[in-house]
Amino acid sequence: MQHYIDTLLLHLSLFLFPHFTSSFFLQTEAMSDRFFPNPMPEFVPEATPSTQHELHEAITVTTGDSLHKLLAMPHAPLSERLKRAALDLKQTIVMETWGFTEQRVGDFTLYCGLLGTAFLLFKSYNVTQNANDLTLCSQIIKACDTASLYSREVSFICGRAGVCALGAVAAKHAGNDESLRYYLAQFQKIKLPKDLPDELLYGRVGFLWACLFLNKHLGQGTVPSSYTAPVVDEIIKNGRALGRKGKCPLMFEWYGEKYWGAAHGLVGIMHVLMDMELKPDQLEDVRDTLKYMILNRFPSGNYPASEGDKKRDELVHWCHGAPGVALTLVKASKVFGDEEFLDAAMEAADVVWSRGLLKRVGMCHGISGNAYVFLSLYQLTGNAKYLYKAKAFACFLLDRAHKLISRGEMHGGDRPYSLFEGVGGMAYLFLDMVDPSQSKFPAYEL
Ligand SMILES: [Zn+2]
Repeated sequence: MQHYIDTLLLHLSLFLFPHFTSSFFLQTEAMSDRFFPNPMPEFVPEATPSTQHELHEAITVTTGDSLHKLLAMPHAPLSERLKRAALDLKQTIVMETWGFTEQRVGDFTLYCGLLGTAFLLFKSYNVTQNANDLTLCSQIIKACDTASLYSREVSFICGRAGVCALGAVAAKHAGNDESLRYYLAQFQKIKLPKDLPDELLYGRVGFLWACLFLNKHLGQGTVPSSYTAPVVDEIIKNGRALGRKGKCPLMFEWYGEKYWGAAHGLVGIMHVLMDMELKPDQLEDVRDTLKYMILNRFPSGNYPASEGDKKRDELVHWCHGAPGVALTLVKASKVFGDEEFLDAAMEAADVVWSRGLLKRVGMCHGISGNAYVFLSLYQLTGNAKYLYKAKAFACFLLDRAHKLISRGEMHGGDRPYSLFEGVGGMAYLFLDMVDPSQSKFPAYEL
């Protein structure tokens, strides 16, 4: 009965959350309502002040052309400004999600719940080395641990594995061996249900991402490949059952829909698989699946939300569309070295530049998440044009997000302080802009 209720609620959520491509949502929001026309130049060089007076001029932002001034600002003062804004936002987010709630956990998840606040605090600790952030992060994870103890969800973003994995990594940084052992033991107790989907938000690759996160932060072999290999084999087996050899070798379904995007679909699954140890034939299927997607992209360079929805070129989100695909293509370019992947990633980035200034703020389907496409391409190519574009999206948010949200011209998110839908994503992006060469889309880029 509970499963039936859960399923019913999930289907209801198809109508409520924009990263699900329900026809209801698509009909209620016209394409022109989704994004702001991009008002920013293709490139603005940073000012190079040579006197104290010029420096003062370069870093003084007043109203008027403040956005253009921010775009030209030298990196050091701009990143300081973004960091300050992020730390102020972090205070607000902690108060709203933890302080004012008397530390009760409604939603424990990283996606829209308290674990997202903990993840932001962990990021803030890594940037500032402020030990208070790590202490608070650990306290919040402890509350999430209690709240998620009997959760059936197993992924990093929406399930128990996120709590245990982040708990273990935070404990390691805090030098708390007892807590580290506890979270690792809890992680080992996670059982993957037989009917688990394969996608990122709730499914098998969402669990695998937690394994990768542990191995990255605690050392390779923390979760041995003998443990993850059967999960990988199961995913490949499922993908081949729905795929077509010679066309798209792997295909997956989530609630009856063959999604393509990062959150629920093909490209999110390919993204995580590329970080796993794959047999040569498995790796080949991943590569050919990505090539099929490139071949069947929209003429604009954007990507369909699902296999059955190849006519509606509308969504430019991390969850559905070019941004999530671009991040995976950047990874494919590193893994396989084919020019085709880099070319398609750059083409997808052009779509994000022109149609990705969404009227939403968060990671999943907002400007913050879309900025990571440029950061990822900057890291791969070293091309300053991409760094500028990431900076431009961040500056647009810094300069205008609060104003636009308060005027009702931009959606503040159904969960306005969350990491994936709210200003938590914006704070996270601002912190990543301090050292753009090390930025990572949270819970997606490793
Ligand atoms: Zn979304």
